[in-house]
Amino acid sequence: MAEPRVAPMPNRAETGGGVPSAAVMGTYARQNLVFARGQGSWLYTEEGDSYLDFASGVAVNALGHAHPRLVAALTDQAGKLWHTSNLYRVAGQEALAERLVEVTFADKVFFCNSGAEACEGAIKTARRYHFVNGAPERWRIITFEGAFHGRTLATIAAGGNPKYLEGFGEPAGGFDQVPFGNLEAVESMICDETAAIMIEPVQGEGGVRSAPDAFLQSLRALCDAHGLLLIMDEVQSGVGRTGKLFAHEWAGVSPDIMAIAKGIGGGFPVGAFLATAEAAKGMTPGTHGSTFGGNPLATAVGAAVLDAVLEPGFLETVTLRANRLSQGLAQLKDEFPGVVLEVRGKGLLAGVKLAPPVADAVKAVIGEKMLTVGAGENVMRVLPPLNVSDAEISEGLTRIRRAFATLSSKS
Ligand SMILES: *Cc1c(COP(=O)(O)O)cnc(C)c1O
Repeated sequence: MAEPRVAPMPNRAETGGGVPSAAVMGTYARQNLVFARGQGSWLYTEEGDSYLDFASGVAVNALGHAHPRLVAALTDQAGKLWHTSNLYRVAGQEALAERLVEVTFADKVFFCNSGAEACEGAIKTARRYHFVNGAPERWRIITFEGAFHGRTLATIAAGGNPKYLEGFGEPAGGFDQVPFGNLEAVESMICDETAAIMIEPVQGEGGVRSAPDAFLQSLRALCDAHGLLLIMDEVQSGVGRTGKLFAHEWAGVSPDIMAIAKGIGGGFPVGAFLATAEAAKGMTPGTHGSTFGGNPLATAVGAAVLDAVLEPGFLETVTLRANRLSQGLAQLKDEFPGVVLEVRGKGLLAGVKLAPPVADAVKAVIGEKMLTVGAGENVMRVLPPLNVSDAEISEGLTRIRRAFATLSSKS
């Protein structure tokens, strides 16, 4: 037998050591940390170091790591059936869709695997709605500066961030961008070709910027007046992150279409877009599909996450923990005025706008064995699991305080 031409797999010590593998495409500026295990709000390295995880895999690990109910949901399903394709009915998909319809504005759910895919599906749904209404010219979507809707070709065009568009050819057409929160700009952008307005109720990647309730209410009114669909991207803000099941509930307005992902899978890849029956009426057989979307494993985990988040008292506790976190962060702003410029966000989607570069702050927090996430506008996101304990919030604030003390002594 010929010698295998591939290099042998590196052993564990090598992959867990100081040198990242060059075999992984270098599209991320990663921290040089490898985790072997997680439990609740904590992550452990192979060497046994523990880190307080207030990154939650960027708002994904809604119930922390290795939650017994999620482990049970996944392993029970794993012993029965993994995948059949959407050529057949999928029982778990029907059950999770029914549950989502019960607790949201929506009548219809399409399952996919990621946030970008959910946003793409939401965009397609809006365009198809006008197409079947006899207005195929209405295909343009108004989006907002600082938006993040994913990294596919359509969603980088929707997000409009020049850094993400560079080098990928002509941006996908049909997106008109206006400043976040500027109603007049939205109004003057509406034209005969406009199909929808798409917004994150709280911008995550863009720097934890909350859209004021009045702004969302005005967008709803504009959509109604002009026959436009309102699309909410709740990929990051949804599934309890802000203390409501979905962030738009704070404003008392409903979208016509909503994209979700991140938290709904609790770490298993699950995405979905939801719509009213009216908004979904163009999505007929053959118009959209996904091989993996809504498979039995994904929907079993999704249902377990949703059940936990909807348990009596869960969302109220999120708000209690969030208040404690934001009060603690506000105190740090008073203590370190040279470091903290502003505390912002909603619920456990908290942001700290910094004076020193956010990358330095994230590094300093890592130095205290704690994880947070950078965002736009030089903001550090603090995203604990939704089931974080009071003591862990205190511990997190203590570690951030030590990190900020280090930063302020350097500046
Ligand atoms: C993360 C995110 C996305 C993209 O999700 P992926 O799963 O990375 O494709 C889209 N919209 C928002 C608001 C997000 O936070």
